[in-house]
Formats: sequence, C-alpha cells, structure tokens
Amino acid sequence: MKIHEYQAKQIFARYGIPVPKGEPAFSVEEAEAAAKRLIEATGIPVVVVKAQIHAGGRGKGGGVKVAKGGATEARELAEKILGMQLVTVQTGPEGQKVRRLYVEQGLDIDREIYLALTLDRDRRRIAVMASREGGMDIEKVAHDTPEKIHTLHIDPVLGLAGYQARKLAFALGLGAKEQMRQFTKMLDGLYRCFVQEDCNLLEINPLIVTKKGELVALDGKITFDDNAEVRHPEWADLRDADEEDPVELEAKRVGISYVSLDGDIGCLVNGAGLAMATMDIILHYGGRPANFLDVGGGASQEQVKKAFQMILRSDKVKGIFVNIFGGIMRCDIVANGVVAATKELGLKVPLVVRLEGTNVEAGRKILDESGLTIQSASSMGDGAEKIVAAVKQSASV
Ligand code: ADP
Ligand code: MG
Repeated sequence: MKIHEYQAKQIFARYGIPVPKGEPAFSVEEAEAAAKRLIEATGIPVVVVKAQIHAGGRGKGGGVKVAKGGATEARELAEKILGMQLVTVQTGPEGQKVRRLYVEQGLDIDREIYLALTLDRDRRRIAVMASREGGMDIEKVAHDTPEKIHTLHIDPVLGLAGYQARKLAFALGLGAKEQMRQFTKMLDGLYRCFVQEDCNLLEINPLIVTKKGELVALDGKITFDDNAEVRHPEWADLRDADEEDPVELEAKRVGISYVSLDGDIGCLVNGAGLAMATMDIILHYGGRPANFLDVGGGASQEQVKKAFQMILRSDKVKGIFVNIFGGIMRCDIVANGVVAATKELGLKVPLVVRLEGTNVEAGRKILDESGLTIQSASSMGDGAEKIVAAVKQSASV
C-alpha cells in the first residue's frame, strides 16, 4: 500500500527525521491560506506547491512549482495543479488526476542526495541505498553509473551498526562532524521507522543539504507491506481510494486476489501458482494477460461470479481464458459462477475454458447447456494457444 508524500513526512517527523514545514490542501482556498500561514511562520516568502499523487516524477511532469510571489502566486499555482491530469514516468500515458496538494516552505538547496531503505529478498536483509547524485535524474544515475549508488545491508539481529552509517556518510560527502551527526541520527530514525511501520520501501529523494548545512527530507515516499495490515488499523485513514485501481479495491472487498496488468487477455484461475503459470503460458504463445486473478480454493459461486464480472466489465479485455484445476474448488461452482456473470453482463469476447478436477463433468454440462459460445481446451497449453489465436483473429477483423 502506498501513501502520499505529506503523509510520509508526517510519519518521518515522528521518528525525528527533519522535514520542511507544510500543510496538505484540498482546495485552492486551502492552499492559499496554508501558504499565508507558512510564510508568516517561517518569515520566508517562498513556498512550494506540490501535487499529491501516488507516483514519482511529479517535478518533471509539472506537478511541483515554486512560488516566490507569496500566497497570491501560491494560489495561482494551486489553480493550475489542482485537478490537472498529471503525467509522469510512473503514471503511464493516461496520467493521474490531482485531487490533493501539499504546500510547503521553500528551502535553499545546496545538494540533493538520494536515500532509500528497501527489503533485499536475496540477502534477506533491509538494504540502504544512497547516492550523492540524488534528485530528479536518479533513474539515469542508476542506469548509466550504478557505481555511484552505495548499498549497505542491515543485520536483523545487530541492527544498524554505527560504523555502517558513518561509512555511508563519508561516501555521501557528509563526513564533517555536524553533518555526520545529523546523518547517522536520521538513518537510525529511518531504520526504526521501516521496521516499526512495516514498510516495504522508504525513499527520500532528494534528501537535501541546505545552504546552511542542514539535512532535510525534501520528498518522502513510503510503501507499506500489505501483509502487515492486521497490525496497523491506522492505515485505513491513510488509504486514498482515488489513487488505487477500482477493480483491485472491489476484488479486495469480495476476498479475491486480483492484480491489473497491461495486456488484453482476462484470466480466471484458481490457485496463485496456476495463475502465474497461466500468465506465463499466455506470454509464451504471444499473448498478454490483462490481469492476475486467483479465485482461491474455497471460493463461492457468488465470488466466482463477481470475479468473472470484473473481467467482463474491463474495456481492455479482448478475450478470456478460464483455467481451473478443481481440487478443493469444484468445477460446477466455477461453471455456475461464469454463467451467472454472463447472464447479467453478456459475453462479447471469445471465451476459452479449460476445466479439470472435482465435478468436471457437471461443470462441462452446465457450460454446454448455457448457450454461451465457448471453446473448450484439453490442456493449459491448448487453452492458451486457442485464446491467443482468438484474440488475434478478432483484432484483425
Ligand atoms: P518528485 O520526486 O515527484 O519529482 P519532489 O518532491 O522530489 O517530487 O520535488 C521535485 C524537485 O522539486 C526536488 O528535487 C527539488 O529540487 C524541488 N523541491 C521540492 N520541494 C521543495 C522545497 N520544499 N523547497 C525547494 N525545492 C523543492
Ligand atoms: Mg522526489
């Protein structure tokens, strides 16, 4: 689960990590008032108006603007940014609508550093990654000059060792006494934050050194580990449904694992392993899956119906592959769910079904008698080949 920059900064502040003063704003009026308060409180006439969306690269996309002309200019910028369809490298070409702003004091930047904590699954440790060359071109740095990114791994038993933090500080050019003190304190706070808040990713880009030599987190990104949701009732208030895929949210509500993907073949599968293998085999035959969908072992007919309707409703789906191996799941339940869903929404795209396992005969009978145009497949490979061919054919007519 992702949260907004301003929410991440509020959490950072609780761990003693310095962040600029700022206020979220949901309207142009709120943004103007926030700018006014900030200018009064800091005595500095510069504020920055920042689009709050769950994607990075906002600066380059025009979603971060500096106002030097006081609250009036902040208002004008807020008018431009609020409601815009912000396109960044991370949003995809359709962009994301800006519904929230963050108005923040403007700081004098001397240097921009990159700092992130993430889980390194290979090493089974939390990794800290940092670079002197932070800021808006960090992807380019990582691609062209990976040696400029320093990495350290934290021992889960010993925790972050002082020497590790100091070594990294030197590598980042923060070896002077006062900056070293600030940096090691900050890294300690970030590590505690990562563990206690159950993060997957914690990123500050840029971490700046101000002209006065102070370290401040100028941007903030946190991704939580969804598996820890039971431990964090407070996450419910941090969630922004506008930023999430509506179909994924709906799936979550009915208790189905669903992930939207870029392709055009909708998949209804039971079991996560089979679902992944199904995506692989579709790719193998030259197609592209539109989703990962695992209805699970014990899904009810109602859940299967809901799941199938999610696929039917999607505009991008040009063909559907139902691949069920009924173990705990019964094939007749799946068949009934599929038929019930199409009764309400109709079936406008080719459908290939591969059914095997418990109650397979009953399941096939239900589908046969449904009057739906269904191609049946004898195996996974056969099914994938058939749906890819059907989608290609319907695209060419
Ligand atoms: P993104 O990473 O989505 O582009 P950032 O929050 O990193 O958004 O902002 C982009 C750039 O805007 C930063 O690299 C920094 O140069 C500048 N910036 C952001 N916030 C401030 C601020 N409070 N004061 C001065 N400059 C800022
Ligand atoms: Mg940034």
